[in-house]
Amino acid sequence: MMTLLGLCGVMNTQAQDKCGAQMIKDAIIAQNPSNALLLKQQEELIKQRADAFQREMEGVKMKTTSTVTVPVVFHIILTATQQTALGGISGIEERVYNQIQVLNDDYAKLNADTTFIPAPFKPVAGGSQIHFGLAHRKPDGSSTPGYEIRTTTTASYSFPASGAKYTNQGGLDAWDPSLYLNVWVINLGSSILGFTVPRSLLFSFPSQELGVVITHGAFGKRTAATTPYFINGIDKGRTLTHEVGHYFELEHIWGDDNGLCPNNGGQDDGIADTPPQANSSSGVPVFPKYDACSPTYPGIMFMNYMDYSNDTALYMFTNDQVARMHSNILPVNAQDYTLGIHPELLDWPTGVANIKADNNFLLYPNPSTGKVTISLAAGTGLQQIEIVNLLGKTVFSTQAQNNQTNYNIDLSSLSRGMYVVRCVFKDRIQTQKLIVE
Ligand SMILES: [Zn+2]
Repeated sequence: MMTLLGLCGVMNTQAQDKCGAQMIKDAIIAQNPSNALLLKQQEELIKQRADAFQREMEGVKMKTTSTVTVPVVFHIILTATQQTALGGISGIEERVYNQIQVLNDDYAKLNADTTFIPAPFKPVAGGSQIHFGLAHRKPDGSSTPGYEIRTTTTASYSFPASGAKYTNQGGLDAWDPSLYLNVWVINLGSSILGFTVPRSLLFSFPSQELGVVITHGAFGKRTAATTPYFINGIDKGRTLTHEVGHYFELEHIWGDDNGLCPNNGGQDDGIADTPPQANSSSGVPVFPKYDACSPTYPGIMFMNYMDYSNDTALYMFTNDQVARMHSNILPVNAQDYTLGIHPELLDWPTGVANIKADNNFLLYPNPSTGKVTISLAAGTGLQQIEIVNLLGKTVFSTQAQNNQTNYNIDLSSLSRGMYVVRCVFKDRIQTQKLIVE
């Protein structure tokens, strides 16, 4: 039994909205009742686009094997206490890396738990050609580890948490959403685990708010029993898998219609190969599970990422869900096309000259044969120096000493190649590339 740190209170994941998809739509309609029609039109448009895409794929018998890679940036805005609860900088970093891994596994159907997909659903289980990578170039071309941290005094944000999306309101600005998938990690309190503003809602949201928000207790994946703080049952990184599904315009599998069935005036998810479903699932259901909309075998697909089951019980998208996501990013006229065609944003900037001078630490000599000096002004609030290899593995780490301004580091035991030197300050992390010759 995991202990919940008292940060967010105990979150009851039974019979609650895990995700704010419906809250967003309700809010848009509350703003102006005529928006209901616009929402309907958007849903219809998305469905038509996905259908046209599928027809085209079948028509030309196109077997596309090319993949697209989406640059991801995590904007992490947490109090010092919340950062500590996640294991500090190194704990946060671990979650950043394993969250990307989870996305890649889940979207490519490479997740180990596909073995649990029940036989009747196996033929419709789908893997996408959408991959994800940490951005290593900021919009201005300077280097980035793919995440940024801002220490806040705002203990929790309530929906829609717009303040978290603007630097001048204490949050962190989106990076150009046509190039990056922006993910904000904040404390959403005990309300919801996350929510998404996809492009179809741009008629009601500014483009700087496009992206995903997830609560910190659902961020990343538990890698050991001792990994600190996760919300009960929500520790395999599937909240982001779900929310990114919304980003690519997937709906909840039950259609957000309070128990109605598609053949009885209810909404469907607009996806042909998911069974009708009355309401959201919760906890860890056992297959086969029936409800009013799917009363016969094989019942409902509670293991679909777009349902609300616990993370351990979620392990598939369907082919038609994948087609819908592809229709939003693969064709040149797709709404998110530009998100998948800039793989260079995943590469560290080449050449030291490209590293912008907004770093307030010096690193020399560079290239180096192993002995390097890191030099910085007094009073910068440096906490830690870390050196990581290109696989993201930390090969050197040292705590900063109060007011020490020069650090001589011997790296001659490391193999030749490129490394990233990361200076962790109280309120930010700065990186520079280091070549060891
Ligand atoms: Zn959702």
